[in-house]
Amino acid sequence: MNIEEILQKYGLPHSMAVRHNDPSGWMTPFAVEAQGICSVSQASFVFLESRKMQAVAVQDPVNLVAVYAGMFWILCRLASSVAAGGIFPALQGVSEPTWKPDLERSLRTPRDLLDEGKPFDWELEKIGWSEAGERQILFHVVLSLCFRFVVLHEVGHIENDHCRRRLRTRNNLLLVDRPSPRLIQPSEAYESQARELIADGFAFQQLIRIFDNQLTQSRDLEYSRIVREHLVADAPSLIRFTLCIIFLYFRLSDRSDWHTTPLNRLSHPPAPFRMKALFALLVEAKPFGINEEQAGEIISETIVVGDALASVVFDVYPQPDWLKRISTPDHDCHFNKIYEQFGNWSGRLPTV
Ligand SMILES: [Zn+2]
Repeated sequence: MNIEEILQKYGLPHSMAVRHNDPSGWMTPFAVEAQGICSVSQASFVFLESRKMQAVAVQDPVNLVAVYAGMFWILCRLASSVAAGGIFPALQGVSEPTWKPDLERSLRTPRDLLDEGKPFDWELEKIGWSEAGERQILFHVVLSLCFRFVVLHEVGHIENDHCRRRLRTRNNLLLVDRPSPRLIQPSEAYESQARELIADGFAFQQLIRIFDNQLTQSRDLEYSRIVREHLVADAPSLIRFTLCIIFLYFRLSDRSDWHTTPLNRLSHPPAPFRMKALFALLVEAKPFGINEEQAGEIISETIVVGDALASVVFDVYPQPDWLKRISTPDHDCHFNKIYEQFGNWSGRLPTV
C-alpha cells in the first residue's frame, strides 16, 4: 500500500505536493526536516491538503506521520506574532512590546485570534519585523520548536507502538490528534490520555536534545551564536525557553471547551493538563543533568514567563489561572489513574 492508499483507507485528506514557491515561504525546508526526523523512526512524513489544525500517526503497515497544512500555517503565524511582538528584546529589530488587550479579544480563543484555517502568507505577514535579521532568527527558532514538537509527538505514538498496541482492542491503526477532543467511555479515556502524555513526553525530550545538538554542532555559525547568546545560554535556559514555546503552543491549541466535560470522557487531556504533565516529567527526568532545585526554578519561571508571552502574542489579558484551574485534588487523582496506564503504552512491541 502506498501513502496515498493509506490516506484514502482512513478517510484522510490527500497528501500535499509541497511547492518551492509555496506562499507560506517555509514549507519546503520544514518538510525536508520533518522527513529527516521521521526517518530515524522508520516513518514517512507528508503534509496534508487541509486547513484543519491537526496531525496524525498511522502504522498500517508502514509508519506515517502527517501534518495538516492548517497546522503548519497557524504555527507560522504564531512564530510571526512572537517575532513581531517586541518580546525577547535581546534580539534586535523591534522596539517596545505592543500590548493592547481588551475584553473582547480576551474572551476569544487564541486559535481564533490567529485566524485558524487561513493560509500563512510570508510576503504579507513578515512586514514590519523581517527587515531585522535577528527577528527572522527568532521566527525560525519558534517555528522550528513548535513544528518539531508536533511532528515528534506523532513520532512518539509510533516509537511506543500506540497504533499497534491499540490494535489488540480495536481494528484501527490510526491515531488522530484533533483540535477538539472527542468524547469516549471512561474505560478508554485513561489509556487514550496516557498515550497522549507519553507522546508529549517523548516529543519534549527529543525536542531539547535536537535543539541542543543543532546549536552545538553548528556553534561557529552566526545563527547559533546569536541564539546561544540571547536566548539559550545554558542548559536550564534552553529547557526553559523550549517549555515557554510549548506553553504558547498549548495555549494556542486550547479551545477551552472542556471545562464542563468530565475529565474521564476526553480522548485528549486538556491543554493545561498536558503542560503540567511535562513539568512532572522535567522533575523526574532532569535532562542535561539539572538538579531538582533547577527543575523547580524552570517550572516557576515558565509559568510566569509563558503567561506573559501569551498575553503579548495574543494581545489578551493574563490568565494566571490557566494552570491553577487543573491543580485540584480531583485532577491529581485523575493524573494518577492515567499514570497507572503508562506501563501498558510505553516502548516498542516485538516485531513479528
Ligand atoms: Zn497524540
